[in-house]
Amino acid sequence: MKNKMKFLAVLGVLGIFISFSFSSLNTKKIIVIDAGHGGEDFGAQFGDAQEKKIVESIANKISQLNSKGDTEIILLREDDSFIELSERVNKINKINPSLLISIHINASKNSNENGVNAYVSKENDFYKKSVKNAKDLIEKISNDKLAKGEVKDSNLFLTKKSKCPALVLEVGYLSNEKDRSYITSENGQNEIANKIYEFIKK
Ligand SMILES: [Zn+2]
Repeated sequence: MKNKMKFLAVLGVLGIFISFSFSSLNTKKIIVIDAGHGGEDFGAQFGDAQEKKIVESIANKISQLNSKGDTEIILLREDDSFIELSERVNKINKINPSLLISIHINASKNSNENGVNAYVSKENDFYKKSVKNAKDLIEKISNDKLAKGEVKDSNLFLTKKSKCPALVLEVGYLSNEKDRSYITSENGQNEIANKIYEFIKK
C-alpha cells in the first residue's frame, strides 16, 4: 500500500513536470492582422471596389492558411463590422502580439501613383523592429504586378499607440489601373495573402 502511494506521488509529480514542459513549449508566436475600415467606413473606393472588402478578404485568407501551425494569427475583424481605432488599440495591447499588421489599400488623385508602401511611427517603442518588418514585408509582396514602394514615418493612431512592433501596410492603389486589377482579383488577393502568411511564418 505504501509503495503504491509512493508510486502515485511520483506519477503526480511527473505529470505536473510534463504539463509544465509542454506549456512552455506551447508559447506560440502571436501576430495580429487588422483589416482596416469596415461597416459604414468603406475606406478608398473605385466603382464597385471598396477598400474595406478587399482588406477583409486578404485578412481572412491569411487566417485560413494558418489552419495548423505554431503561429497564432488573430484577426481584429473577420466580418464587415466597424471597430473604433481606440478599441482596436485596446484589443492589440491586451493580446500583446509580436507584430501588428494593419492592412489597407491606398488611393491618390494621381492615378499614376502605385505600389506597396508601409507606415510606421517613431513614437512607437518598437520603431526599429517596425521598420525592419515593414521593409521586409514590402520586399516580399512586391512583384511585377505590384511595384516596390517604401517605408514612411507617420504617426498614425494604430502604429503610435500599439505597444508592439506595428505597421500599416498599404497594398497598392485602388486609383491606379494596374494595381486595381491585381488587388481586386481573386488571384491577386490569394498571392498577397500567401506572401504575408509566408512572411509571418518565417
Ligand atoms: Zn485605409
